Amino acid sequence: MPIRVLPPEVARRIAAGEVVERPASVIKELVENSLDAGATRIAVEVLEGGLRLMRVSDNGCGIDAAELGLAFRRHATSKLAADDLAAVATLGFRGEALPSIAAVSEVEAVSRPEGAQSGAMARLEAGELREVRTVAAPRGTTIAVRDLFRRQPARLKFLRSPSAEAGQVATVVSHYALAYPEVAFSLTVDGRETFATTGSGSRREALAGVYGAAVAAAMLEVTDRGDDYSLDALVGAPSVSRASRAYVTVFINRRWVRSRSLAFAVEEAYRGLLQTGRFPIAVVDLRLPASEVDVNVHPAKAEVRLRDERRVFALVQRPVRAALAGLAPPPFSEPVPWARPPVSVSPRAALIVTGAEAAAAEQETSEDVARQAPLPARIPLLRPLGQAGTTYLIAEGPAGLYLIDQHAAHERVLFERVRRESGDGPPPLQGLLAPVVLELTPQQEALLAALSGPMRQHGFEVEAFGPGGRNRGAAGYLLRAVPAVMRADVDPARAFIEVLDLLTREDGPADPRDRVAASIACHAAVRAGQTLSLDEMRDLLRLLEECELAQSCPHGRPTMLHLSADELARRFARK
Ligand code: ADP
Ligand code: MG
Repeated sequence: MPIRVLPPEVARRIAAGEVVERPASVIKELVENSLDAGATRIAVEVLEGGLRLMRVSDNGCGIDAAELGLAFRRHATSKLAADDLAAVATLGFRGEALPSIAAVSEVEAVSRPEGAQSGAMARLEAGELREVRTVAAPRGTTIAVRDLFRRQPARLKFLRSPSAEAGQVATVVSHYALAYPEVAFSLTVDGRETFATTGSGSRREALAGVYGAAVAAAMLEVTDRGDDYSLDALVGAPSVSRASRAYVTVFINRRWVRSRSLAFAVEEAYRGLLQTGRFPIAVVDLRLPASEVDVNVHPAKAEVRLRDERRVFALVQRPVRAALAGLAPPPFSEPVPWARPPVSVSPRAALIVTGAEAAAAEQETSEDVARQAPLPARIPLLRPLGQAGTTYLIAEGPAGLYLIDQHAAHERVLFERVRRESGDGPPPLQGLLAPVVLELTPQQEALLAALSGPMRQHGFEVEAFGPGGRNRGAAGYLLRAVPAVMRADVDPARAFIEVLDLLTREDGPADPRDRVAASIACHAAVRAGQTLSLDEMRDLLRLLEECELAQSCPHGRPTMLHLSADELARRFARK
């Protein structure tokens, strides 16, 4: 279909807005265009997180030389034939991406349609078409975007570090690679190929390319067919859960949708099978009649509106649950709390504590314990009385009662210990008897690249190995040592990956070294929900008393609430 400018009445019905927020949003639009063009090979390349260069090459249908300039006009599209927004079958349809990208960067587009003698190149600066000329080119389209936001310094300020932006690019590309297993994707970051999929059409194989062979092997296939829908999913066995929600991917009609509700539908299917704070890995491919889905609600098309959201929730949740029920192991049972005696409160293999819990705790503070005295940086000597909700320690001190969040408190203790121990000397590490092979996702790899210094300082010894290059699957790394603070019996590879995942948390210290220390502490700290003996509580309180900033965890949440003797007396009308 030729490219044409949409009539204004159609253009007006399109959800308009900012398409280009950051490099990853440019990559998303370019990759969608390549998919719409029927490409079977899509290569993505970024330099400096995409700020210097983003290049997407495909072997799709190409753009006619005569139309190359037109493709960069607003509302110019080849995808909306009858002006019928309800019948959109392509990923794009509003003709906004290319002009929006070109407006905030420098673009060079090279394209040759099948059968054309030669290709054409168009160059734009700040949205202005500077030149179009004939060039030799392979079949397909390559779009190179340089110097994003150079003329919009205010926008640059909202971006994160190049490695963080590269991580987001990797997230986008890997999600499309999972959705389109018949397309061979590759991603190259700063000259290094971070992952590639084969394009064989096997979703498990695509998943191996993105998350590694071990994860791919532990996935269950779920299929379900109905009169007007189909569901194909790969869902992780509970044994391969993760510490973040980022591993649940849902596609509706081949469009990656960031739907909290559908991700939750997947989580719900795992209810009782995963510990608190653990999340599944899943890729869900749901096809529904176009009339059930409105894609025209979000400028970047990241959200869709479902006509019957509850039904779709059930369509996802039920078959996944049924598949898991077939293999459900007994619910996770905790080993005894920290095993090593007194002073070293030993680390635990997990993390917890949701923001909601923190917020709830905060609210209680302001209402019920409002007049509490501000806590000094160091806390007084405390005597443990017991545990409430297997989450809070109840303790008594010279000035009244204290409720202590056991996870937050232990986090604080470990954070200060980790920081103290990895001063200027050699890193406090425990070598592993045999190195452990790690398989990292592109996002994790990007994080590791950005934080390898601090990770090393705190005792993680990792090295890259293997040939690298196309189709080798996820990058290979060898883990040779873990921080001394890690308990000897935790699975080191899992611990490492959890610490990386925890580093993606938004809260926490800004300094990279402290960020890593906080993640190690969070990973290693005792969890909410664990029963502690009085001795263990006493140990934890002793250690907390020695902390410099005992009253908050490294993420800034309070470790304790204080109800003063005065307040108690007042409440019981003794005063
Ligand atoms: P939309 O995708 O909404 O149509 P875009 O601004 O993203 O709008 O692209 C404008 C037009 O340029 C598309 O409709 C398509 O005809 C053409 N185009 C863009 N990228 C490619 C590509 N990689 N291969 C072939 N055609 C493309
Ligand atoms: Mg598009």
